Amino acid sequence: MAKQAFKAESKRLLDMMINSIYSNREIFLRELISNASDAIDKMYYKALTDDSLTFDQKDYYIKIDADKDSRTLKVMDTGIGMTEEELENNLGVIAKSGSLAFKNENEIKDGHDIIGQFGVGFYSAFMVADKVTVITKAFGSDQAYKWESTGADGYTIEPSEKETVGTEIILTIKENTEDESYDEYLEEYRLRSIIKKYSDFIRYPIKMEVTESRLKEGCEDEFEEYKEEQTINSMVPIWKKNKNELTDEDYVNFYQEKHYGFDKPLKHIHIKVDGTIRYNAILFIPENIPFDYYSKEFEKGLELYSSGVLIMEKCADLLPDYFSFVKGMVDSEDLSLNISREILQQDRQLKFIAKNIQSKIKRELENFLKNDRDKYELFYNSFGRQLKFGVYNNFGQDKDVLQDLLLFYSSKEEKLVTLDEYVSRMPEAQKYIYYATGETNERIARMPQTELVADKGYEILYFTEDVDEFAIKMLMSYKDKEFKSVASGDLDIDEESKEKTKAEEKENKGLLDYMKETLSGKVKDVKISTRLKNHPVCLTADGEVSIEMEKILSAMPNNQEVKADKILEINADHEVFQSLKTVFEQDTEKAGLYTNLLYNQALLIEGLPIEDPIEFTNDICKVMV
Ligand code: ADP
Repeated sequence: MAKQAFKAESKRLLDMMINSIYSNREIFLRELISNASDAIDKMYYKALTDDSLTFDQKDYYIKIDADKDSRTLKVMDTGIGMTEEELENNLGVIAKSGSLAFKNENEIKDGHDIIGQFGVGFYSAFMVADKVTVITKAFGSDQAYKWESTGADGYTIEPSEKETVGTEIILTIKENTEDESYDEYLEEYRLRSIIKKYSDFIRYPIKMEVTESRLKEGCEDEFEEYKEEQTINSMVPIWKKNKNELTDEDYVNFYQEKHYGFDKPLKHIHIKVDGTIRYNAILFIPENIPFDYYSKEFEKGLELYSSGVLIMEKCADLLPDYFSFVKGMVDSEDLSLNISREILQQDRQLKFIAKNIQSKIKRELENFLKNDRDKYELFYNSFGRQLKFGVYNNFGQDKDVLQDLLLFYSSKEEKLVTLDEYVSRMPEAQKYIYYATGETNERIARMPQTELVADKGYEILYFTEDVDEFAIKMLMSYKDKEFKSVASGDLDIDEESKEKTKAEEKENKGLLDYMKETLSGKVKDVKISTRLKNHPVCLTADGEVSIEMEKILSAMPNNQEVKADKILEINADHEVFQSLKTVFEQDTEKAGLYTNLLYNQALLIEGLPIEDPIEFTNDICKVMV
């Protein structure tokens, strides 16, 4: 029988996993038990929903069996089993859940990253075994199959014998090396403590032959040992327990056992609702962004259980898009087992639960922000973008839910602030919430457009993400204060300078008109600036579309050619303006040259491309000679 090779990526991953110095080898057992439990869930669900099947609670269990003589550890389950094809598809490919886009193999110091992120749970067996044998018989099939592999060089599949439906995984445990002992994975007490630690909440009994001792019959002081099958786990699912019985570690173990994420959760939310509709939920806010989170492949959703039986792995209807980062599970006695996906969407109970969960998450995030700001900022760095999308999406219908969870960088505080903090600090005379957009905080701080507002002593929010300005446009105002870009047409700040500017515009009408004509098609208008202090020129936008928005929209695949109405503002107090005035009186052609130079300068400051760089450099040379 020919040996089949693992798919190329799988082999690489497997090599890394086997050889990675992984401190936490014991979790292989958690992975195998978790798979076994999933397989029984599937069988159990079938039995419950198919009237032609009879079932008995005691038919569903997992059994662990260690044998020191043959150095084997068996994990067997009465789950749904695998067909030949499933063996091939499920165990022949590792990392099916994502491409192996590791930046650097050194990053995988901690094997857990791989295990969680790519769903290679089964393969963790190779951390402790040099041979893994899987004998399995699928539900509805008469033929059993055996899969076998000694690691990265491939695997074999052949027909085999097995009485009952289910799966048996046999690990041939590695010999001890100088630095590592593997014997412990054959020790009863050790296995027992690993099961207790990671798999106590598994809903099916995990049975094991355990050695006990008792008084020898007829003796008073002599003991004899005997074997007895015991159930090791308590079987009470964590979500049914009381919060005060559980430690943070229990929640973290549950999160990892369930593969909700490869990190540690930042926060857990344990919900028990006992009203007209009853449900329990355990929700997690991850710390890190899942690798596919901001891609089309990402699927949101919570696991959905009906009275402890898993009925759906990813119930999307339980989470709004803006909270799609939340992981976890919901269990309700009030949901029918037989419910189909289509009916589920209409289900009144489910709608109620979804609404309830949504407001609980919101409240928890608000408390999080209030009571643990540093950690909240970690969360916000990962998922703040999603909240902002949430404000923007659906024409802003969810903005009220989300506006108090937003943070933006503040020019004055030099850290992230909430809108409420901003507004509460506004001086009486300040009418608007000012913001500026740009690539980085450092660049924004140096933008000429911020000069006047900053000079007034007003705080400016720095927007560095694509979505920021779109979200704010949707929000329009916060606590009756409108948002205003420092680069928008009229800043409405300084009445006095407005008068002065008007006078200057009148005085220099000839020059301004000439400039406008020179730049026709490029800018809508040329004006004396009220906002510039030290810089000679800047570009601002008139109307709804800002220059930043134009940049973002034109970078989109279906470029819609949306253009901002640009205004070239010129600083009448700047020396350059005086030179411009002089050349305009003496040599209009030169004034045209200056105008083009100034316009191109303004484009550069904005981070916009110059239309004709050759002409621009030629122009500079002309001025220099
Ligand atoms: P994951 O569990 O994250 O999908 P694994 O590598 O642990 O990844 O398992 C791959 C697949 O193999 C599982 O999704 C499941 O379909 C199948 N499988 C593993 N163990 C069992 C088992 N004991 N019984 C039935 N199917 C199993």
